[in-house]
Amino acid sequence: MSKFIFVTGGVVSSLGKGIAVASIGRMLKSRDLSISVLKLDPYLNVDPGTMSPYQHGEVFVTVDGSETDLDLGHYERFIDVELTELSNVTAGQIYSEVISNERAGKYLGGTIQTVPHVTNLIKERILKLADKSQADVVVVEVGGTVGDIEGQPFVEAIRQVRNTVGQANTFYVHVTLLPYLGATGELKTKPTQHSVNTLRGMGVQPDAILCRADQETGDDERKKIALYCDVKPEAVISLPTLTTVYEVPLHLENEGLGDILINGLKLPDTAPDLKSWQTIVSVDREENPETEIALVGKYVELQDSYLSVVEALRHAGLHNQRKVKINWIAAEDIEQQGPDQLLSSACGIIIPGGFGKRGLEGMITAANYARKSNIPYLGLCLGMQIMVVEYARNELGITDATSLEIDPKAANPVISFMPGQKELHSTGGTMRLGVYPCAFKDGTKVRQAYGREHVEERHRHRYEFNNDYRLQLEEAGLVASGTSPDGSLVEVTEVYSHPFMVGSQFHPEFASRPERPHPLFKEFIRISKSVLREGGQHDLFQDQD
Ligand code: GLN
Repeated sequence: MSKFIFVTGGVVSSLGKGIAVASIGRMLKSRDLSISVLKLDPYLNVDPGTMSPYQHGEVFVTVDGSETDLDLGHYERFIDVELTELSNVTAGQIYSEVISNERAGKYLGGTIQTVPHVTNLIKERILKLADKSQADVVVVEVGGTVGDIEGQPFVEAIRQVRNTVGQANTFYVHVTLLPYLGATGELKTKPTQHSVNTLRGMGVQPDAILCRADQETGDDERKKIALYCDVKPEAVISLPTLTTVYEVPLHLENEGLGDILINGLKLPDTAPDLKSWQTIVSVDREENPETEIALVGKYVELQDSYLSVVEALRHAGLHNQRKVKINWIAAEDIEQQGPDQLLSSACGIIIPGGFGKRGLEGMITAANYARKSNIPYLGLCLGMQIMVVEYARNELGITDATSLEIDPKAANPVISFMPGQKELHSTGGTMRLGVYPCAFKDGTKVRQAYGREHVEERHRHRYEFNNDYRLQLEEAGLVASGTSPDGSLVEVTEVYSHPFMVGSQFHPEFASRPERPHPLFKEFIRISKSVLREGGQHDLFQDQD
């Protein structure tokens, strides 16, 4: 039977609770335990798929095609697991199920209430993940902050799970902020005391408290928290802001959290093996030369919108002995200022996924710049579609070539709707989602980068390469280097004569791990690191090692 760790947040949001959960997962996995993770999101959307990236950041796509919270990306990267739709539950899902049960007469005329009907469904989802994953430990993160109105049924549900599965099988961790007052030079514990009081008022007594602050939490503060919050002093853990998030599992292990969890849950006391993680962190801390990559996108003011891309670039840098410096460029700025100045220092250009037409012309200009200046280019989903439009316009001379997403009445839609997408009226969960197989053409860059002929990668899109233009584009040097196994869908394109200009209809960034960078990102950085940019002049290509 699985054991459960429940993680709540206190005082403020954005404390790095997701990182703490991912780190706990990593620490336990390093002790030979199998782990699954569940994010409970108290908002009323059914999933984040329809939410603006400005509101929510990246939508993380699981292998089975569910659109989930970006914290699942942290979990997958840290723990190196593949999660499914079972790992993200929202209030929207729970309430819609309760209401459709009610409409179907399943409650036999009873009055439907938050407790027990809503809380029962939340509990069912927690126990279902344990059952399906058969994990030794299921770590459950409750989104938001204790005291939020919409979070209350979730806290009530995790309280009840203790009675269902037994005290010895549950452990509650509260992650909280200790504000620092510069005038007195102190970390204040009072907000934490209040937050724990709120939690206890709802019947949940934390077993450990993680104290977030920019600095270490001293012994005095820890003792005070232990006393007021009724937690063992050694279970009040200091979690300062560290140089990189990948240090968090090592830090928490050093602080003794691993042993506290193992003892608290009576799990086998195997010594943790964090060697390979330690290696990653050491390389990350090294002073490696920088490689600048321009990320040309629509939502660059909110970098969380591209979280997995940022992490995949970082992983690729770690394995190429380079620090990847991302130059965030708003595609609209390229429309106004042209590419020459903005992209003059980029050793590689990446165009990530995106939706809607704002900034698309700027991205097309950036793709043209990459192609003409021999700067490595990696296009992800939208970035692949942009690359095709650019090539059709400037190499085939189809000057009005475009994507139906830009112009629904286009005469030359080189990127068109996927079958069935045009007729859809519901926007939620209706894209082409999840993993699909892809076969590579021999002798192509993508085939070489992967070192394999077949892969499965994650998708999230409505539009696709229009095969009516395939022959012309291929003859002009834009190769369809990856397709669905039956050859009907173009999944990867590359410019034959370019050092590295590759676009994938899928999202490789979701599959990258610190210890296993994604092959496309790794190759992109390997080529980019040999590009020299001088005073905005054209690049010089050195020998590629
Ligand atoms: N908007 C494009 C589509 O729907 C690209 C999607 C994406 O980049 N994820 O096909």
